[in-house]
Formats: sequence, C-alpha cells, structure tokens
Amino acid sequence: MISRIAVKLVEQLKARQAGQRGSPGACLRMTVTASVGFMKAWSLGVGLRRRERSVRAPPARRSEILVLCTLPYRRAPSKLKRSRYTPSMPDDVLGNRLLAVLAPEERDRLLRGVKSEPFDAHQVLYTGGREISHVYFPVSGVVSLVIKMRDAKDVEATTIGNEGVVGIPVILGVGSTTMEALGQIPGRALKIAARVILEEIRRTANVNRLLLRYADAMMIQLAQHAACNRSHSIEQRCARWLLMARDRVGANEFPLTQQFLAQMLGVRRATVTMIAGGLHKAGLIDYRRGRIRIVDGRGLERVACECYDVVRRVMKTVTS
Ligand SMILES: [Zn+2]
Repeated sequence: MISRIAVKLVEQLKARQAGQRGSPGACLRMTVTASVGFMKAWSLGVGLRRRERSVRAPPARRSEILVLCTLPYRRAPSKLKRSRYTPSMPDDVLGNRLLAVLAPEERDRLLRGVKSEPFDAHQVLYTGGREISHVYFPVSGVVSLVIKMRDAKDVEATTIGNEGVVGIPVILGVGSTTMEALGQIPGRALKIAARVILEEIRRTANVNRLLLRYADAMMIQLAQHAACNRSHSIEQRCARWLLMARDRVGANEFPLTQQFLAQMLGVRRATVTMIAGGLHKAGLIDYRRGRIRIVDGRGLERVACECYDVVRRVMKTVTS
C-alpha cells in the first residue's frame, strides 16, 4: 500500500517539477493517509533527495502523515534578495571602487534595502545649507560638487565618480555643507540613508577606516584643484577635467556639452569652444551633438597639468 503511494507520489512530483522548473513552487506539500502513524519519507525511494522528511501526526490523527518533499530544482532568486536589490545590482555594486574593496558581509550590511538609482545631468543630489539625508555611491557617471556664489557664477570644486562617495560631510559627522552636489554626466548611484551609513561606520572599523581615507583623499583633491585654478592654464585644466571624467566614466566617450564644461571650469562658453577646437585640431578629442570622445588619451595627458596625475595617484591609494 505504502509503496504504491510512494511510486504515485514520485510520479506526481516529477510531473510537477517538469512543469515548474525554476519555480519556487517546486516545494510541494502533501498529506498522505496511511494505516500507520509514522513513515520515513526517504523510504519513498527514487527521485527524491536532500530534505525528504516526515512529520509525526498528532496522536488524535495518527492516520494522517504530512510529508514535505523538496525536489531537486533550479532555485529561483529568493523574494528577499529581489526586494533588496534591483536585477542589475551585483554589477552595480562592484562598479563602485570603494564598495568593491569591502568584505562581502560588510557590503551586504551597508546596502541592506538599497537600490541603484539613475541620476541625470543637472540633477541636484543635495543642496548647500540643508541637511543631507542620503549619501550616494556612484557606479557610473560623474557628480560635481559646486560652490554657489552670490556675486558670480557657480564654480565647480571637484568631481566624484565611481572611485568615491557623494556625502562626505555625513561621514565626518556633519549634517550639511555649503556645497551643492549636482549630476554632471548621467549615471547611476547607490543611494544610502545617512542614518544607515552612520550606523555601519560605528559598527565596522574597516568601513570607518576606508571612508575616512577617502575623505582625506578628497581634501587633498580639493586643495589640489584650488591650486590648479590659480596656477594652471584653462587648456591644462580642461584636459585634466576631461581625463578625470574619462577615468570616472570608464569610457573614452561620454555626454557633455561645452556649455556645461564652461560652467564647471568657471570660464566663458566661447573660451571652451576655442580650447576644444585646438584639442580637436591636434587630434586629441572629437565632439559632436553634446558628446565628447577622447581620441588620444596619452596626448591629452601631455597637455594636462600635473594635478591630474597627483589626484589619480592619491585616489588609488584609498582602495589599494
Ligand atoms: Zn592643475
């Protein structure tokens, strides 16, 4: 009797498995009526493996046996994982160099409930003088930190890409800043609540150490750019800016209007047009319809000032 039920069960389970391959519903729950109160599920025989088990029925219902069978099947992503991460999350996470050097368990804790969100050019991520509610780990694109002037045009202080994090004041325990974080080249970033990152900084020494090292590197970068704006030519700064954008985007071509580049360099549009024309003539860059392509990176490095190399080396030490 039991062996007949067993054979029938196996056939039913195999049929369900064939129809539901990859479905979480492959775990089937069945109630079997038998003449004894206890039966070991593994005795059902062929086709089942791993977590076959049986549950003894309450004494009052000894004739009912609940058999839980888990068939071999290709496990679909759990609902928990899907609620935490967008489908593209695994690639996204490692796209940010700071997150990539954290231990997997540290990264998982930090990114609990986090989603990768797109940001656009000109999109404000946080405003000067207001509380910063979230920090952003860019995985692509470039964000600018901009100083708002009352009596002059806005000036870019520095840029942040996939090598860093936007929201250093939060990491340093300060709720706001005077600078504005503005999307420069469209991309994606992992947006984490300030409260969450502060908790993780307090809990994990490694996360704290990494973010403080990055904060220190950012201070060096800001100081270098201040010196650069005073000492180096617009052409050198323009070449430096394009090379930094290339490194952060990870591609030789990216969307960028000359108007925006002029704004970020703090010069007139006509000046950028003239300089870009010279770089194009020298075979170093190409540009059309709001996109810039670096044709000769080595040549552009020769035009750029020393600041490009200084900042690049400093940033590398953070994650090395
Ligand atoms: Zn410079």
